[in-house]
Amino acid sequence: MGENLSTREVIEELNRQENRQENKAKKNASEANEERKRAPRQKRRVCAFCMEKDEAKRPLYIDYKDPRLKKYVSEGGKIFPRRQTGLCAAHQRELARAVKIAKSMGLL
Ligand SMILES: [Zn+2]
Repeated sequence: MGENLSTREVIEELNRQENRQENKAKKNASEANEERKRAPRQKRRVCAFCMEKDEAKRPLYIDYKDPRLKKYVSEGGKIFPRRQTGLCAAHQRELARAVKIAKSMGLL
């Protein structure tokens, strides 16, 4: 009489199966997380000032009166680092110069 399992045994067996399924689900979730981490970041940002066309003659110049300067300065008056501004090295330097002039003139 192999079918004669007590209800307690049946419940235990069901619990075991449930646990196995849960573990599988957890494993799948963690694998998905790892894949997300491993995925390369391909979003390449181009410097906002380099994209402008009509400044071809003086491509690096940033006007201290430029209203866009505000975007690159925090409320505390700090210039954001390149990793946040997305500017190229040359334009980041130029931005810093322009912001300093703008600050000294009270524009920022
Ligand atoms: Zn640039």
